[in-house]
Amino acid sequence: MSSTIQPLEFNGNWELSPSLESTDHLSLKNQYGLFINGKFVKPLSKKLFPTINPSNEATIAMIAEAEEKDVNLAVKSARVAYDGHWSKMPNKERAKYIYRIARMIQEKSKELSVIETIDGGKPIRESRDIDIPLAAAHFYYYAGWADKLKYAFPIANPKPVGVAGQIIPWNFPLMMAAWKIAPALATGNTVVLKPAESTSLTALKLAEIIQEADLPPGVVNIITGPGTTGNLMVNHPKIDKIAFTGSTAVGKSIMKNIAGSNKKSTMELGGKAANIVFEDAPLDQAVEGVINGIYFNQGHVCCAGSRLFIQESIYDLFIRKLKDRMQSLILGNPLDKNTDIGAINSHNQLSSINKYIDIGKKEGAEIFQLNCEIPSKGYWCAPTLFTNVSQSHAIAREEIFGPVLAIQTFRTTNEVINKANNTPYGLSAGVWTDKGSKVFNLTSKLNAGVVWANTYNKFDPTSPFGGYKESGHGREGGLHGLEAYLNLS
Ligand code: NDP
Repeated sequence: MSSTIQPLEFNGNWELSPSLESTDHLSLKNQYGLFINGKFVKPLSKKLFPTINPSNEATIAMIAEAEEKDVNLAVKSARVAYDGHWSKMPNKERAKYIYRIARMIQEKSKELSVIETIDGGKPIRESRDIDIPLAAAHFYYYAGWADKLKYAFPIANPKPVGVAGQIIPWNFPLMMAAWKIAPALATGNTVVLKPAESTSLTALKLAEIIQEADLPPGVVNIITGPGTTGNLMVNHPKIDKIAFTGSTAVGKSIMKNIAGSNKKSTMELGGKAANIVFEDAPLDQAVEGVINGIYFNQGHVCCAGSRLFIQESIYDLFIRKLKDRMQSLILGNPLDKNTDIGAINSHNQLSSINKYIDIGKKEGAEIFQLNCEIPSKGYWCAPTLFTNVSQSHAIAREEIFGPVLAIQTFRTTNEVINKANNTPYGLSAGVWTDKGSKVFNLTSKLNAGVVWANTYNKFDPTSPFGGYKESGHGREGGLHGLEAYLNLS
């Protein structure tokens, strides 16, 4: 079949003029303190660390590092706010604050999306159209539930858990903060949140919004710092619940630490999702879905469709279409509105991705990469795919968390179900087919928290999200996301 397929010609006609998002409207400080009890305070540790722009390695601001005394202060402030007023406030009054935060995120969405992009490296198109709108949507959605908890959980007498310690990663910084803070507040809990070290800025901007929204002091505390700060939260006796999103390794260590305590937990960990294309699928749409599944946010996505399974009869055609589409991707300045592929979030993450690319080559898989110019400064990885991959290859088994796709084939439905489920993870999957019956067959047999059919990477606050097996436990989003912050009788 391959000899009859004509490759597309790429002779420079795809080049677009730069279309840079402006940055002159940003209001950023040179230095950020910790947000405790409604105020920005200097860290008692007296330590600061830089946050840098991964697309040019320039320092954007210095951020406070919270150590033990700082963590204690933040937890105390959350405790006092919980016991003193927040848990007793009429639910509809709490809702007003949450609505206000949602509206303010919308009002400041342009500034927030630019900051997300310069701090994290993601294309402005994604932070503008996905991260920030979804963050606002989560606050709106949970504000709506705040005065309806009795109806959401009839006869279960819903009660807040207490103080929630929330630890979030660097791939969707503001969105993850919203996923955590909004349901916690709607259910009457107070919060201590720690963003990832490399992307603290939008969480700190959220702290400014929370201050401006007049949320009572101590209800939300945002403390910055490395993993050791998170570890102090995990082990703090006055925290009632840990909500964590990040790597499976750290998730496991947290579970060991809280074993035997009364702390509740939700863990949103890694993934290695199967994206399955049947011969009867709408192939051009499936190509878009595969590209979006793995290259969205440079592949820094826990539910990324990083394992592609193509039915053997369409393999040659599909690979040709996929490579052609890959060659039209634009890698470059994340602030350019034409950019599809931004910078890798950190030097460490780039090293880890490159390590896997080397392993893939050594294991005998065949590599194909976007042929593009790589900027001289910053951290970059050209979108990559590997063919000739087998189930035992590390690139097919381990989470790479970068723009690297491992491709395998299948003949029958049972074969692909077995292959797709042959992973320690169980977060998400995708199915591309013309047949509804095939979709329903697979959705009931794939061990994944989310299965998308003829689409991929679609998120909505009303829909629960979370995994099985080593992808974690508990759900965020929807009614399930409320339940995670409640004690039900
Ligand atoms: P981590 O799990 O190390 O970090 C996630 C969050 O936990 C960060 O805020 C981090 O702080 C904090 N943290 C780190 N160590 C501890 C600890 N011992 N106790 C409490 N909190 C801790 O993920 P990384 O960001 O380092 O990424 C590494 C890998 O994790 C990726 O390659 C990817 O596989 C996976 N990952 C998965 C995500 C998902 O959404 N499922 C998201 C991000 C990463 P700090 O950043 O300051 O170190």
